[in-house]
Formats: sequence, structure tokens, C-alpha cells
Amino acid sequence: MSNSKIPLESNDCLVVLCFQHLQMQMRYRDTNVGNEPLVPELPEVETVRRGLEPHMEGTIIDRVELRRKDLRFPFDNDFAKKLDGQRIISIGRRAKYLLVDIDNGLVLVMHLGMSGSFRVEQAGLVDQPGEFALPKGVNKKHDHVIFHITSAAGAKTRIVYNDPRRFGFMALIERSKIESHPWFVDMGIEPVGNALNGDYLAGKFHHKKAPLKAALLDQKMIAGLGNIYVCEALWRAGLSPERSSYTLARKSGKATAKANRLAGHIRDVINEAIAAGGSSLKDHRQTDGSLGYFQHNFAVYGREGEPCRKSGCTGKIKRLVQSGRSTFYCSKCQR
Ligand SMILES: [Zn+2]
Repeated sequence: MSNSKIPLESNDCLVVLCFQHLQMQMRYRDTNVGNEPLVPELPEVETVRRGLEPHMEGTIIDRVELRRKDLRFPFDNDFAKKLDGQRIISIGRRAKYLLVDIDNGLVLVMHLGMSGSFRVEQAGLVDQPGEFALPKGVNKKHDHVIFHITSAAGAKTRIVYNDPRRFGFMALIERSKIESHPWFVDMGIEPVGNALNGDYLAGKFHHKKAPLKAALLDQKMIAGLGNIYVCEALWRAGLSPERSSYTLARKSGKATAKANRLAGHIRDVINEAIAAGGSSLKDHRQTDGSLGYFQHNFAVYGREGEPCRKSGCTGKIKRLVQSGRSTFYCSKCQR
């Protein structure tokens, strides 16, 4: 598949945590289905967060080095100045955004876009294979932002943001204004917590005729839930992606057993992918440079024509296109 065939969607971006970006991009395109990009999913961003956390939390930002005026968006004029000398309190995540709390009340919001990644470099570690095994061929001309930081113990560290396609972005937003910011104001609940339960789904679906698959991808309902995991959760729950959403709610608006089951499976598939260290991409690297995990074992995604893996089911996995996205499902056991 040539690059020109890949539709670029501004919000459905690829997140790759690896160092050989260009080669990797070519490789993961090979694993795409149809002409669709493999879109990033929340587990990859959470993996990045967990990899950066021990290196960044509690550290002082000595200096921010901006090597360009912009990524997807221009940096604010005083972006670096506002971070210089500040302490990093914590690193959180909301949907696919990394939120770095700074002790001056600002939040450094970072989105990895299609090809953004971080590299952690410490004295004595960068060139040590197995410790911080930078693969040869990493293109440092795409190192766009460098955070020079000092740990509480005095260790100097460089957190390097590399992004060949520059679809990522960074901005500083006041902590008190995060929730009302346009990027976050309409965001639904996180797919990994207890807030996602049968009653929540039923409440949202009560009067919805839209097919289940499309309704679940609505980011205003569940933020950061993407195509792959919706396919997997529906398969596990034995629910057809084409089923009308309202059938998961009772007339009273309460959850049906199906709604409870689906909510549990959504939480499970996301949590399992996070536990596996990311999501869907082969040779995916953790922020410490180690090969963190390999392809998550999807049951339906990308398996068109293969036998259904549900025990006792003789169906085959089919693909259909809903709202421009591929849906993989088994028509025999998903009703
Ligand atoms: Zn089946």
C-alpha cells in the first residue's frame, strides 16, 4: 500500500513508541486492514505515560529546547520560558492526552499525533545496549523538543520528543481550565474505570437507534476507546456491531445483562492491552528502549475469513465497514 492511499485523520492518529519511526511506519502499515491507518489506541498512550513517569515525576526542568516553532500547532511564544526552572509534580493521562502537572499551576498537555515518541537519555545509559538500546538508524533530525531535566538525586536527563510526521502537539493550559478547554470539555468517561458500567451504557443508549459499534466509538460517551477494542469487546460480549444501541437498555433505562456484560468486556480488553505494554503494533518499544511487548493477540481484529475463536462456534470472521471504519465480527455468535 502506498502512503498516498492512507487517509489522515487529525484526531485518529497513530501513536508509536519506538525509535525507528520511518521504518516502523512502513511496517505497521503492512499490518493495516484495507486502506485504513491503524489508529492509535489508549493503551499505547498509557504505556508511554508509565514509561515516562519514573524519569519525570518530581524532577526539575532545567531548560526546554524547542528546535522548531511548531509541531501540528505553533508553540506559544513563552512555552519554553514558562517551563524553565519548574518542578514536575506528576504525569497523568486523559483519553490520548498526556497531562504533565507543573508546580506553577500549568499543565503541559502533550499529544503524540501519528508518530510522536519520547526517548529518555541519561549519562552513561544512552549507549549501553540493553539499558537504553537506541537502535541504529534513529533519525535525530526529527528530535523537535528536548526537556533537559534534573532528578531529585541530581541526575541529568534528556527527555527527547521525536516526531517525523509532526502531527503531535504540546500546549500549556492552566490546571483550573483543563476541564473546560475545548479539547476536554465534551470528553466522555475513561474506558478503564468503574464509571464504565452497564447502567452508564444503558443511560446513554436508552433512546439511541445507532448501531452499537458506532455508538461505542462516540468519544463523548467513552473517551479514548478506539476501533480495535470496540471490535474485540463486542466479540467477547457476543453482541452484533449492527445491533441497535437501545436494545441494551430496559424500558426503564436500566441496564440489561448484555449492557453489564459489554461494559465489563470493554474494561477488560483495554486493561489487558495496557498490562501487555501497549497495543497493536509489532516490535513496539517501551520508553526505556526495551522491547516491551509484541502484537496483542486480537481475536477478531484483522482476522477476516479466519475461523471464529469462540469455543464451539463454527462461524468465520467477517468484515464490514461502518462509518468508514472496518468492523470485524462473527455473524454466528455475535447477535
Ligand atoms: Zn463466533
